[in-house]
Amino acid sequence: SSVRIDVLSIFPSYFDGLTLSLLGRAQSAGIIDLRVRDLRDWTSDRHRTVDDTPYGGGAGMVMKPEPWGLAIDELTASSESVGTSVPTIIFPSPAGEVFTQATARDLSTRDHLIFGCGRYEGIDERVFEYAASRGEVRLVSLGDYVLNGGEVATMAMIEAIGRLIPGVVGNPESLVEESHEDGLLEYPSYTKPAIWRDRSVPDVLLSGNHGVIASWRRDQQIERTRRRRPDLLPDDPS
Ligand code: SAM
Repeated sequence: SSVRIDVLSIFPSYFDGLTLSLLGRAQSAGIIDLRVRDLRDWTSDRHRTVDDTPYGGGAGMVMKPEPWGLAIDELTASSESVGTSVPTIIFPSPAGEVFTQATARDLSTRDHLIFGCGRYEGIDERVFEYAASRGEVRLVSLGDYVLNGGEVATMAMIEAIGRLIPGVVGNPESLVEESHEDGLLEYPSYTKPAIWRDRSVPDVLLSGNHGVIASWRRDQQIERTRRRRPDLLPDDPS
């Protein structure tokens, strides 16, 4: 049974990159069923209009609710054929909950995800309310900055979620040791040659002593996290 991911966007070709590498292979292998859809397919006017001026005034345009409503109806109706009654509908938004590795883990267990990519000043608010009657709605932010549209945020989320879906990453052990999985940043990595431009690999890594290596790596993780991301550590004055 594959994980179904639908994406709604007015720029579907953004997602061409997801046919490459691990996620591309996961699609060929039938692990992920990714379908990118043009929101304009659910318009009916000659100009395929998806935006209009904001009620109450102000700069910019707002995405009209009608195409979103029709698209959500169609994509959530097909959830029945995916074998789940409640799809998860994710709207990237700078005003949403911040996306973390924990969010990615949570979403990687769903069997139907729908991403709705906003553009302009965003989507008519009633779309989120309506979507909540058709699935579980999550407004998710990539971080505290503003992008031009939801496409890049959606790609980042699909990549983070996708690599946690069983079978996508060949060696599941490589997932366990990564940054953020244990609440710490990852330890530094080295490969051959042992000396490069007068810089040596730390001796401990050449020692062959796995216990010592493991504790050195742990120390490096804690030290790095303290230095670069103290906000990740529990409040500990020591
Ligand atoms: N006026 C909106 C606001 O201030 O909240 C920003 C709209 S932004 C220019 C257009 C679209 O980009 C949003 O609808 C959302 O889909 C996406 N977007 C922008 N920043 C984002 C972020 N930090 N995380 C996720 N999506 C983002």
